[in-house]
Amino acid sequence: MNTHINFKENLAAENIAGMNINTQLFINGKFVPAINGGTIDVLNPANGQIITKIAAAEAEDVDVAVIAAQNALPKWLETSAAERGRLLLKLADLIEENLEELAYLESLDTGHPIRDSRRLDVPRTAACFRYFGGIADKIEGSVVPVEQGFLNYVLREPIGIVGQIVPWNFPLMFTSWKLGPALAAGNVVVMKPSEITPLSTLKIAELIKQAGFPDGVVNIVPGYGHTAGQRMADHPDIGKISFTGSTQTGRNIVNASSGNLKRVQLELGGKGANIVFEDANIEAAVNGAAWAIFHNQGQACIAGSRLVLHESIADQFLEKFIDLAKSIRLGDPLDPDTEMGPLTSQAHRDKVLSYAKIALEQGGKVLTGGIVPNDDSLKHGYYVLPTIVEAKSDDRVAQEEVFGPFVTVLRFKDDKEALQIANNTEYGLGSGLWTNNLQRAHSFAKKIKAGMCWINSYKRVSPGSPFGGVGKSGYGREMGFEAIHDYTEVKSVWVNVDAQIPPHFKRDDS
Ligand code: NDP
Repeated sequence: MNTHINFKENLAAENIAGMNINTQLFINGKFVPAINGGTIDVLNPANGQIITKIAAAEAEDVDVAVIAAQNALPKWLETSAAERGRLLLKLADLIEENLEELAYLESLDTGHPIRDSRRLDVPRTAACFRYFGGIADKIEGSVVPVEQGFLNYVLREPIGIVGQIVPWNFPLMFTSWKLGPALAAGNVVVMKPSEITPLSTLKIAELIKQAGFPDGVVNIVPGYGHTAGQRMADHPDIGKISFTGSTQTGRNIVNASSGNLKRVQLELGGKGANIVFEDANIEAAVNGAAWAIFHNQGQACIAGSRLVLHESIADQFLEKFIDLAKSIRLGDPLDPDTEMGPLTSQAHRDKVLSYAKIALEQGGKVLTGGIVPNDDSLKHGYYVLPTIVEAKSDDRVAQEEVFGPFVTVLRFKDDKEALQIANNTEYGLGSGLWTNNLQRAHSFAKKIKAGMCWINSYKRVSPGSPFGGVGKSGYGREMGFEAIHDYTEVKSVWVNVDAQIPPHFKRDDS
């Protein structure tokens, strides 16, 4: 099997000559083939062509990776927190040094426009590792004021081996969201990137080696969910699974994890309500609403996929919003002028397109898009035009996660109805409000059923701010101190420093 992509020869990437990346599994600090020799084709979503083949991990490979992690754990537990932090900071520096290569790989593999990969995905990945590098030696326990004579202190200890399952929509960034807190807290990791988009994560594996992490602390096993992913979920020696993906697979993972009662953190789907009130700054809201749904072709769990408009400004808003949607430049993700690339896989593109039909079947209106672009240069890629439909709050397009450049418009007449529409969902991840009324903003932020709420903005993330949802959007949090808590076990230690304890079982002769 070809273990390297040579970009110079194969991809004519004039600005990135001679870039190499390993395509094998990364286990115990080495790149190795899959035991059964299986491979998976990795496709370029902009033209459907094969970029390369990667080794396909199966259950046996996961078992080997778990053993490598297990062997690495004792020494990693003895590594000082400051040293763990130093390694993470070094990794952040290496990511910045390799910005162009990582951005290129991410765009090639996922279809993210390179302008976003360069200014968002790669810098955010470095920032996330840096944040958790800084936190590593600040993970403190506490002392509890218990009764006289006793000292009670609480330790936060690593869980041990954690399994991390990464989806295909933001593979690079999610790698840092998961590895950063796990490693800072002293865990060892087996990670499965999506087999659709493994390349940037495999590059991170190389940088992990270069940064000097001990062998076996991080193991990367790209492979299919039903084999490698399933084995991680039911593996008896993995203490926690962190999963990002669909609600149904999240449910399967919870079931599979019950054997050893492993901890599970789930970051699942969303149907974000983005509410525009009549007093909003319309220009800002139009722009923010477009970013909320069209960034990364709408393939984001926090996407503002329900646009909830006050009836008095809806027509005026939609005129501008539709014009903006129609003006978005679709194109080759590697072209710096491209604002929207293809969806990441053909199957997913077809699913997104099917929702335009579903909207019509239930009496909705397609205001723009709902089809592939009529452009010969894009015909082999998985493109969908920015799509805006209008529907009712109970319709499928207002209830189900489409996960594409597809937004459903709903109108409301007063605040009560806006809140009722916003909370008419089984999900609860991202949400947004556009208003200049301070009281209303805070009141909605409190009442809205969501893990995150943006006021007069949408889709802000920071490594310090907890990310996650409620309801069918999952549980547990990524990023911030919340993530550190999620990657540690709590131990309560009691010390008798001065207590005179009467005997519990008094005998006459004692
Ligand atoms: P899945 O939830 O099936 O896949 C996400 C990840 O889980 C992939 O790495 C996948 O591997 C893996 N996986 C699949 N089955 C198992 C299993 N039994 N045990 C362990 N891991 C498993 O999502 P899809 O990619 O099929 O996308 C479907 C929908 O899910 C999207 O349309 C979107 O609505 C939602 N989604 C949400 C994401 C988010 O950010 N919250 C991210 C991705 C999807 P494999 O690819 O081999 O199946």
